[in-house]
Amino acid sequence: MQAFEATSFYFDQAAKLLDLTENIRTLLVTPEREVRVEVVIELDSGAIGNFIGYRVQHDSARGPYKGGLRYHPLVDQDEARSLASLMTWKTALVDLPYGGAKGGINCDPTKLSRGELERLSRRFIEKIHDMIGPFKDIPAPDMGTDAQVMAWIMNEYGKFEGFNPACVTGKPVEFHGSEGREAATGYGVAIIAREILGRLKRSIAGSTFAIQGYGNVGRHTARFLGRQGAKIVAISDAYGAVMNPSGLDIAELDRHVAVNRKIVGFKGGDPATNDQLLMSPVDVLIPAALGGIFDKELAQAVQAKLIIEAANSPTWPEADLVFNARGIPVVPDILANAGGVIVSYFEWVQNLQHFRWPLEQIQREEEKRLVDAFGEMYDLAERKQISMRTAAFYHAIIRVSRAHALGGM
Ligand code: GLU
Repeated sequence: MQAFEATSFYFDQAAKLLDLTENIRTLLVTPEREVRVEVVIELDSGAIGNFIGYRVQHDSARGPYKGGLRYHPLVDQDEARSLASLMTWKTALVDLPYGGAKGGINCDPTKLSRGELERLSRRFIEKIHDMIGPFKDIPAPDMGTDAQVMAWIMNEYGKFEGFNPACVTGKPVEFHGSEGREAATGYGVAIIAREILGRLKRSIAGSTFAIQGYGNVGRHTARFLGRQGAKIVAISDAYGAVMNPSGLDIAELDRHVAVNRKIVGFKGGDPATNDQLLMSPVDVLIPAALGGIFDKELAQAVQAKLIIEAANSPTWPEADLVFNARGIPVVPDILANAGGVIVSYFEWVQNLQHFRWPLEQIQREEEKRLVDAFGEMYDLAERKQISMRTAAFYHAIIRVSRAHALGGM
């Protein structure tokens, strides 16, 4: 099974409960537009580098397409298609006036210099500038891209279409970005953790956590959970994991990573493998790295009592069925990591208004949207005795199909 098929499987589980006609199902599943471009740049060595970039625009019934750009060696058409579809359901679930898109470039950004990354980003935008824009399609950061890349995108877009910071979100705060955007996804994961644990009659303080991934999402998730008294017993990055049953000191770990660029070698815990982390007996397991982590075997071996999907698409359908059968609740990605796109929306609104909101307002409004969407999803799951994932898709599909109906097909 490939990534897009997996996303469509989750869609279908909810669609079945909605009695959609086959034509509407096809309309909702099929991406509206897919673009693949060759991006050629001069490398620092003087050699030519050929890369392939993608942008998939999945659905625009509710508004302009919205979604990140990923720079990673596993980026391909199918992955972009799957992630674009997830953006459609994510933005609908938290009720943002957007559709869904995703894209990226197949490359290894850790092996490219800053100059090469800049040339790559600019050349990519040169190729796709006519399909993006503030009211067409608004890119944002994802794995392997950051605020600096968004700044280059804004500047490059401006060369073709004129100054318009609302053409991309996740920009640096001092360059038309928003307060709270960088930490927004992790902040949202911590809010969702508080909400779900509350429903399960538990709390963040006193619960144990394992977090897979220490990129933008994992790092901020750890920080916000730590501040609320979480006991984070394991964290990993692409190179390895560290464990400490009495809880890791996140501030210390941050200092270590700032100097060494990786978790390996951190003295505040014992070295461990990624698999040990994923199978550790914690209350809450948070995948916050690549997709496709949980297969059937791993799902059977997981000892966590609750899973919160901070990463996009970490769970294959066969693993999801195992989690459901074992009674391990899974908070789905389209809600758990929606904090990022919610604050992207606030950034876009601020850009359009030429006005700045303070951090307190951003965090307050992000929290409200997440808490409302969580409540709707959780209550529906309870009422219908379905998984939270199916409930989340159910709400999202209703909103998107309603927009199609109102707009006229
Ligand atoms: N890449 C993030 C996501 O998957 C953020 C997208 C955005 O802000 O548009 O949700």
